[in-house]
Amino acid sequence: MTKPRRTAKPTGSAADFIPPRPTLAKLRAASKGCQGCDLFKVGTQTVFGEGPSSAHVMVVGEQPGDMEDRAGKPFVGPSGKLLDRAFDGAGIDRDDVYVTNAVKHFKWAKDARSARRIHKTPNAGEIRACFPWLRNEIALVQPQVIVCLGATAAKALLGRTFSVMKSRGIPIESELAPAVFATVHPSSVLRAPPDQRVRAEKMFMADIRAVGRHMANASPRKQTTHRARKLTPWSTTAHPSGTSSASIRSSRG
Ligand code: SF4
Repeated sequence: MTKPRRTAKPTGSAADFIPPRPTLAKLRAASKGCQGCDLFKVGTQTVFGEGPSSAHVMVVGEQPGDMEDRAGKPFVGPSGKLLDRAFDGAGIDRDDVYVTNAVKHFKWAKDARSARRIHKTPNAGEIRACFPWLRNEIALVQPQVIVCLGATAAKALLGRTFSVMKSRGIPIESELAPAVFATVHPSSVLRAPPDQRVRAEKMFMADIRAVGRHMANASPRKQTTHRARKLTPWSTTAHPSGTSSASIRSSRG
């Protein structure tokens, strides 16, 4: 796949780059050429999701960070390490987890006083433009549980009015998976002021333990039923936080 020219005009949606009869491997390859929004000019490379297609848990973060952008892999930095510890503490096998982000390019701005690249939150248009990649990852993996890390991922999957602080650590029924959990992004735990850091980490760990308990209690029958309900890979520009849930439902038959 040729790297897109930085002068090219974005098409407005990743849907224009979804290959026919997608598989995770085909999606990953196609995502490298995505010009769905302006962020392909900002990030070093597309950082697509990683993990087994049979994973029972899918983690959705906001966007790749500085280290992920350079490595081309999601959750390889300090946030990923905290996440690994949380899964370990919750008894969730890391090999049973698929990790990805709502937005696949790193959005950043140059720090005025150093060479540091400062994270910038993706806007609603960028999240919407990138959504077809995530929607297809969900359709192909069909996770038992989706864990949204932070407000961007939660709003992308649960709607614009969803509040992580009000509903963290609670299983939410969704058409995307039998249960969707939301918690804060591990980077916010790592950035917490020193006097709040211990409490922030404890709360994050507790949220992930709730996911572990849910997984342990979910009956194998329910898991099978959901997995048998074949989701259709999807390639429109519709988005669940807009007016498009009907189009998602209809795409699943
Ligand atoms: S952020 Fe998403 S939609 Fe925008 S260019 Fe990157 S992969 Fe495409």
